[in-house]
Amino acid sequence: MSKSKNKLSTCYTSMECNSCKTIKKRKFTEGDVVFSTAENCSDCDGKMLITKIFGETMD
Ligand SMILES: [Zn+2]
Repeated sequence: MSKSKNKLSTCYTSMECNSCKTIKKRKFTEGDVVFSTAENCSDCDGKMLITKIFGETMD
């Protein structure tokens, strides 16, 4: 299966706070790994856990 790679795609990191269950999405940065902890939650200062890394294609 061959896919055109001409479209720009941006990777995003989705994470969930362990304490207040807030879900946030931000641009993927190097070092992000699924099920590792990211930065602290901005709402409650709890730990954010990375739950998903995905790409979105932009036109
Ligand atoms: Zn929180």
